[in-house]
Amino acid sequence: MRPLLAALASLACLAAAAGCQQKQACLVRAPPPPYFGPRVATALPMPSRSSPARPATLELPRDPSRSASWGTAAWRPSDLERPWRFIVIHHSATAAGSAAQFDRMHRDRGWDELGYHFVIGNGTGSYDGEVEVGSRWPKQKHGAHCKVADHPEYNDYGIGICLVGNFDLAHPSEAQMQALARLVRFLMDRYGIPRGRIYGHGQLKATDCPGRNFDYGDLFRRL
Ligand SMILES: [Zn+2]
Repeated sequence: MRPLLAALASLACLAAAAGCQQKQACLVRAPPPPYFGPRVATALPMPSRSSPARPATLELPRDPSRSASWGTAAWRPSDLERPWRFIVIHHSATAAGSAAQFDRMHRDRGWDELGYHFVIGNGTGSYDGEVEVGSRWPKQKHGAHCKVADHPEYNDYGIGICLVGNFDLAHPSEAQMQALARLVRFLMDRYGIPRGRIYGHGQLKATDCPGRNFDYGDLFRRL
């Protein structure tokens, strides 16, 4: 986009120059007029922690009617949506992290990119309860988070959601559980996924992911 915009800008500049008989002065930008209006704060309040740049953050509808809509979110699937059939929940088994950090980790393992579709932060690498959208999602690409022998469908049609944290040692935060419930509800509505197809990773293969402290009952009560 940038080169195109620059080209358009230079064309506009040439047109402006032609419109005033190509005087050099046309190309010199006039200083802005003095401002006598009210003073406004130019800096927004920010958390003390510095947060990394993030490509996309999911904003879900908050209203209880649960109307599923992608709204104007830039990350919404741009092409045909995949017929998702499962939702698989994971923990990162790390105390901290973010989608970008797990993306690097997964690439270091030789995977194509971040294996999950969504990552829900715990206030370390992203905000607490923030839903980060993985790079697979806008492409509607199969997951790489739940490889089960003879069951390729869990990766092929399973949406992978990872909560940051090690839930063998800690518990998911309230903000994470709220965000997870909202995300799961949204995806259930959008793709017609029944409650019976919402799994923890450990329910599909021999792993304790998403950790012994992950409370399935708590999640289902929120749905
Ligand atoms: Zn897992």
